[in-house]
Amino acid sequence: MADIPSTMRAAVTRDWNDIRVEHVPVPKVDQGEVLVRVGACGICATDLKIVAGVYKGNWPPALPFIQGHEWAGTVVGLGDGARGLAVGDRVAAENHKGCGACANCRRGRYNLCELARTKDNAYKLYGHTAPGAFAEYAARPTGLLHRLPDQVSFEEGTIVNQGALGLHAIRRCRVEPGDTVAVIGPGLIGLITIQLAKATGATRVIVAGRGPRLELARELGADGVVDVSKVDTVEGVRELTHGRGTDCAFECAGSPSAVAAALNCVRRGGRVGLVGLTGHQEVELDTDRLVLDEIDVYGVRSSPNAYPELISLIGAGKVNVSRLVSRVYPLEQINEAFEAFRQREAGAIRMVIRI
Ligand SMILES: [Zn+2]
Ligand SMILES: [Zn+2]
Repeated sequence: MADIPSTMRAAVTRDWNDIRVEHVPVPKVDQGEVLVRVGACGICATDLKIVAGVYKGNWPPALPFIQGHEWAGTVVGLGDGARGLAVGDRVAAENHKGCGACANCRRGRYNLCELARTKDNAYKLYGHTAPGAFAEYAARPTGLLHRLPDQVSFEEGTIVNQGALGLHAIRRCRVEPGDTVAVIGPGLIGLITIQLAKATGATRVIVAGRGPRLELARELGADGVVDVSKVDTVEGVRELTHGRGTDCAFECAGSPSAVAAALNCVRRGGRVGLVGLTGHQEVELDTDRLVLDEIDVYGVRSSPNAYPELISLIGAGKVNVSRLVSRVYPLEQINEAFEAFRQREAGAIRMVIRI
C-alpha cells in the first residue's frame, strides 16, 4: 500500500478514565481486509462505560485499548483477497464480525454469533473486544463496510450504527403501513426510530419523554408527545389513541419503568421492542397481560443486515441524521468531548470526533 505511514495518531485508553492521544503503529491488514482512513467516530454511551472500566476484562479484554465503534471513513488500501470495495470508497462500518460458521451466523443472525461468549477470536466486536476507530486508520473485513453516498458526510455516517439498530427494531416488530407506534425515550435511538416508523408507513407516532428533546421529536416527525414530567406514560399514550393503545411500542430509555410502560401502552395483540438496557435491574412484569392479550415482546440487539437499507434511507432524505450530531471535536480534544457527553444537557444527542 503506497503512501500509508507506519504510525498514526490514536486515542488510547491507557487506564480507566485515562485516554491519551498517542502515536501507535498503523494496523496490519489481514487477508480479505481493507485499510480505512477514519473520517469521524461518534461517542456512544457504551464508550463512557467502557472507559470507566464497567466491563473490564471483557470490553476491553485488556489495556491499552483503542475504543470507538460508530464511525465512517475512506478506503485507502486493499489487503490480499479483499473484494467488493475499491480505494477511495467512502464507507460506514459495522462492529459485529460473526464467525460465519455457527448456526446463528449461518442464519444471518451474526449479532448473536454463538462464539461471542467464548475466547475464540473468530468472533470480534470492534471497539469492544477488538481495536476501534478513535484513530487515523482502522483495518476491517470488507463484509463489515458499506458504501456511503457522496451527500452523506462522515459525521452523519457515524449515526448509521445506531440508525441500523433502529431499523432492526422496526423489522423485528414488523411495523406496517398504517400502524400506530409509541416510542418511549427520545434519545438518539428513539429519535431515529420515530423517523424509521414514519418512513415505513406508520401514520401516528407518539413519543414519551421530557425536556427539549420532545420538541426535536416533533421536528423529526412525531405526531404526538407525552411529557412524562407531567403525565403518566401509559395514560398519555392511551389518551392519544382513544384508549386503545398503539400497535407497537419501542422501549428506548433503558429503565425498568419505561419497560413496564412499553408493555402496557400497546393494544391487545400489540408488539413491543426492547432496545434499551436497564443494567440488569429487575423489571416488574404482568405476565397475565402478556398471555391474555397476546403481547409479542422482542429483544433487539445490534443491526444485522440493516446497514445498506438504512444508508439508502439517509441518502434519500427519509431519515435526518444531521440534527442528531450535536457537536464535533478534533481527536486532540477527545477527553473534552467525553466529558461534555458525560455532562450532556437534555438537548445534546451525539458528540462526534473528527479525525
Ligand atoms: Zn454504540
Ligand atoms: Zn457465529
